[in-house]
Amino acid sequence: MRSFVKYKIIYFLLLLFVLSCGGQNLFSKKNRSKLNIVDYQRYLNKKFKKRRRKSTKYIIVHTSEAGKVSTLRTLSEGKRVGPRRRTRGGHANYTILRNGRIYKILDHKYRADHTGLSMWNGLKDLSSHSIGIELVGYHYGKITVEQYRSLTPLLKELQRIYNIPDKNILTHSQVSFGRPNTWFRNNHRGRKRCALNFNRSRAGLVGRWTYDPDVAARRLTSDYQIKKVFYSAYNKNMVKTSPEKTEKILEMVKIEEAVKQELVTSSNIISADNTAWNIAGEDYNDSKTIYILPNGEKVRGNYAGSEIGWSNIPTGTKVILNQPEIIENSDDPVKIISGDLTAWSYAGKGYKKRSTFYIFPDGRIKDGTRIKDWDSLPLGVRMIIGYIGPFPLGSEKGKTAWGIAGKQYNKKETVYVIPGIGIVTGDKMGSFNDLPKYSKLFLKRRKNGMESKPYTGQR
Ligand SMILES: [Zn+2]
Repeated sequence: MRSFVKYKIIYFLLLLFVLSCGGQNLFSKKNRSKLNIVDYQRYLNKKFKKRRRKSTKYIIVHTSEAGKVSTLRTLSEGKRVGPRRRTRGGHANYTILRNGRIYKILDHKYRADHTGLSMWNGLKDLSSHSIGIELVGYHYGKITVEQYRSLTPLLKELQRIYNIPDKNILTHSQVSFGRPNTWFRNNHRGRKRCALNFNRSRAGLVGRWTYDPDVAARRLTSDYQIKKVFYSAYNKNMVKTSPEKTEKILEMVKIEEAVKQELVTSSNIISADNTAWNIAGEDYNDSKTIYILPNGEKVRGNYAGSEIGWSNIPTGTKVILNQPEIIENSDDPVKIISGDLTAWSYAGKGYKKRSTFYIFPDGRIKDGTRIKDWDSLPLGVRMIIGYIGPFPLGSEKGKTAWGIAGKQYNKKETVYVIPGIGIVTGDKMGSFNDLPKYSKLFLKRRKNGMESKPYTGQR
């Protein structure tokens, strides 16, 4: 009986020991993997070449402007950029899901291709000098509490490893710049709106840049919204003053910033001072950007310029980015090349055929065999597939629309290029007389007398 009790005690002690060991292990394991990082590196594009950065001076925070699935795929495998070109992936070192889960896309010691055209304090190509962290979500949406909860220790750890001060944690929207475009005559900020809603204090950051060094040095033109969100409070209040006063100003700035953050998160609606550019940056004319007009009508970014006009988009129009492309049947023979809708996506292998024509914004016309540099086709190039021409139009016999096209002269599939007017399909031509000099006509090519199958495009 006694020995039984003794065994019981020994057994109990043993159990206690095992339990405490287990507990200890769990605790330390939990401690070690406090960041709970999912290793996603095996999904990295095989063509991605791992190489070290030139230096590690900055950490760049992004919002992916997409949901989880598309973010992970794009960051790891790459995205389509030209008619036949995909990027090689490796577009971030980490991404953080809305639930706070961290995914390691590429080890932090390697250069991720995440900033594109970028500059900070005179230093260009920030991808070669920074670690990239993508937060799943939209710059006009909310960065979740869980995302901040994971981001904060991740930043701390990386800052410790590379000795990076708070100040040098920046958003992609702060460091990217764009070449001259519809809105700017010079190199400028604002190409990206990425992480505009990033709240530094919620990520535990104290130090910060109070001005844009490249705008200050006149290397770049300032962008209204970027300036407003990141620096305006400082420009207004930051005068050389006593430390006490500076403290007060900083406190004020904090409040102002909180108000602004609220503004940013509801800022995907067009108003007098919130333009398409303000909301979407370089994606303003992208086919995946959708404009929802106050009457509910939806227009894709690649059509908004020509159908509405950039300065006429009605107040109250909602702008949403990265909407998956739904391929709808479009019987419009004239296709528009945009960021995601490439020559390849419209014509497939036929993109470089002699019967595929490209009509440039400046009026030049080239067939598919005459284009050498596919990656730099300007956005807005129109394309027609399966045509013969161009036939010059004139008043002489055989040079009239009827003379060339016969019964097809006023059909939708017959395409006219009219100087000063643009590209018009036969069914939309007002008059066929007195066309300006150098007007041209394209005829749909017929195969064995059969009408060739119309291509499925998308608007
Ligand atoms: Zn970005």
